[in-house]
Amino acid sequence: MLNILTVDLEEWYHPEYVKNKTLPHKEVRIQHSLRITLDFLNRLNLKATFFVVGELAEKHPEIMESIKINNHEIAFHGYCHEPLWNLNADTLRAEIEKFNALIGEKCAGFRAPSFSLSNKTRWALKVLEDSGAQYDSSLFPSKTPLYGVWGAPTIPYKPSHEDVTEKDENAKLWEFPLLVYRLRGIKVPVAGGFYMRFFPVNLVARAIKKLNQKGFPAVMFFHNWELDPETPRLKLGLYRYFVTYHKLKETSKKLERLLSKFQFTSIKEYMESYIV
Ligand SMILES: [Zn+2]
Repeated sequence: MLNILTVDLEEWYHPEYVKNKTLPHKEVRIQHSLRITLDFLNRLNLKATFFVVGELAEKHPEIMESIKINNHEIAFHGYCHEPLWNLNADTLRAEIEKFNALIGEKCAGFRAPSFSLSNKTRWALKVLEDSGAQYDSSLFPSKTPLYGVWGAPTIPYKPSHEDVTEKDENAKLWEFPLLVYRLRGIKVPVAGGFYMRFFPVNLVARAIKKLNQKGFPAVMFFHNWELDPETPRLKLGLYRYFVTYHKLKETSKKLERLLSKFQFTSIKEYMESYIV
């Protein structure tokens, strides 16, 4: 049973709780944190989908080469990491066109920054479909203070453009929702980031196993900056600091334990094996 591994490739200053707190001069760590990420994946013999922030690809073309040489898939994570709730159909379309021009082809996949796909931003589905994208992976079938769509399917499906919680067999675009764990009636978003760092490995493994037993893949993610021991820490206020930096130093070990228990691949390879 193949599961799906994704990396949100961004700078340490892109996450929502950090980006308004940074100084005009921002330390560039992307090459370093990408190197750590690629070494980590190579060591575990894993292929992943990299959702890349467009402005990084523009400023540092060498990072795109490094990802390609290592045979990972490249997909899009917004041009400047702006969540969909700050964009509209025209600005998203322009972002996608700019990224496609940069990479010289139609990008097959998208992940909205801050998992910002919901019924309020469902206009994005048509923009993606029109752009030639084949899949999206922006939906968390859960609810957190920042994101989430309660009641959305937890397995790959083609969402209706009228209601993202409904399936529509006539739609073209596939959605790969992020992994959640059902805990006493609550769906906890354990696919990556803070929640994956917070919960024990065995709990996340149970969530993957449950989905696999039903014949479906778990979609996991991590950030390159989560593997970098020197990611700058900003003063954020207690809650935001906790969510952004909690157990950051243990990410790599924890991920390794988790990822070595199952088989993973990129979304492209998963679709080639199971969908197309
Ligand atoms: Zn991101």
